[in-house]
Amino acid sequence: MTKKILLVICDGLGDRPVPELGGKTPLQAARTPNIDGFAAKSMHGLLYTIAPGITPGSDTSHLSLLGYDPGGIYTGRGPFEAAGIGISMNPGDVAFRCNFATVDGRRIVVDRRAGRIGEPETGRLSSLLPSAVIDGANVTFRESTEHRCVVVIRGKGLGSNVTDTDPGVTGKEILKARGLDDSSARTAEILNQFTDMAIKTFSGSEVNRDRVSRGLPAANAILARGGGIFPHVENFLKKHGMTFGAVAAEGLIIGICRVLGGEVVTPPGATANMNTDLLSKGRAAVELLGRKDFVLIHVKPTDIAGHDGNSGGKVDIIQRVDEMIGEIMSSFKEELVFAITGDHSTPVTAKEHTCDPVPLLIYSRHLRGDGIAHFDEISAGRGSLSSMRGLELMTLLKGYADRNEKYGA
Ligand code: ZN
Ligand code: ZN
Repeated sequence: MTKKILLVICDGLGDRPVPELGGKTPLQAARTPNIDGFAAKSMHGLLYTIAPGITPGSDTSHLSLLGYDPGGIYTGRGPFEAAGIGISMNPGDVAFRCNFATVDGRRIVVDRRAGRIGEPETGRLSSLLPSAVIDGANVTFRESTEHRCVVVIRGKGLGSNVTDTDPGVTGKEILKARGLDDSSARTAEILNQFTDMAIKTFSGSEVNRDRVSRGLPAANAILARGGGIFPHVENFLKKHGMTFGAVAAEGLIIGICRVLGGEVVTPPGATANMNTDLLSKGRAAVELLGRKDFVLIHVKPTDIAGHDGNSGGKVDIIQRVDEMIGEIMSSFKEELVFAITGDHSTPVTAKEHTCDPVPLLIYSRHLRGDGIAHFDEISAGRGSLSSMRGLELMTLLKGYADRNEKYGA
């Protein structure tokens, strides 16, 4: 009898000993009675989501955890960002993730986020330049979350080997995009021309006149980075033989799940910030589990707390994840395979992603538990799964869900 699978990925979950937590990791310090309730009957291990020694990004690591080798399909973050805001993409399209920014008359960047402009002003600006045709290619421009926006270039013979126009710091001029091969050189030139058009269009806009009159920085430029070409990917259902649903609020993860053919739900109150309503996400997951074979819940703020060096915040989020899991496990009555892990470590002491492996717990009735009483990095290292790579996770979960074919007679 096949089982459904629930995978909870807490972004940046893994950590290191934290002095203000008495040398414990946030997972060790957190009170997690619900997870502990079945930890002893679960299997634990450490997961190198890409490979030992490699520091993962959230995009590459999620692809890997979902069974897709990022080496074969990942060229940049842009296409997943674009898919995340609902731009439909075709293989061969090139997308860039951009910021609305403020430049002075000499194109020197004064504010990389234009005073953290957001909706509705970003929507009004992008409606002034929603599309353009440059050198025979179609360019689509759309606002994204907060100060972000996306440029998609569609046409024949494009390349994504294009350098960023974002100098990464203020006080420097917007960079000219350069293509690192022939097809990318043309793409870079299109991006440069579109950047010029955006500066011209936005500089004279009413939105910016209004902002300046209120003492706010004008959003009079765009800075592009993370160019990537939209890949050919095998649909999740075809690849894994399971229908796929995800509960997520962050654009990048929504985009990845959509590109793979998943149905993404962002329930009321769910955000990609510390204020996210995890119980609302849990209820959405239970609803999705009713009609999908495989459900992913993505929890972003563990990563945010890591980047902010906020150990107390990370402990708090972990405890709220535990509550969410308690609610899910008590309201979803069918037997299922449940797993919780991270996409990488974001230790609060490092404030950045690191190559440390993440803890993994897999629970299902009848599994050989390894007797570990608390889910954390140190205990998981003593678990029966020892260490694995991210790309192996789906096969393992499907095995315990009775969804892999027997190998041999
Ligand atoms: Zn991440
Ligand atoms: Zn991060």
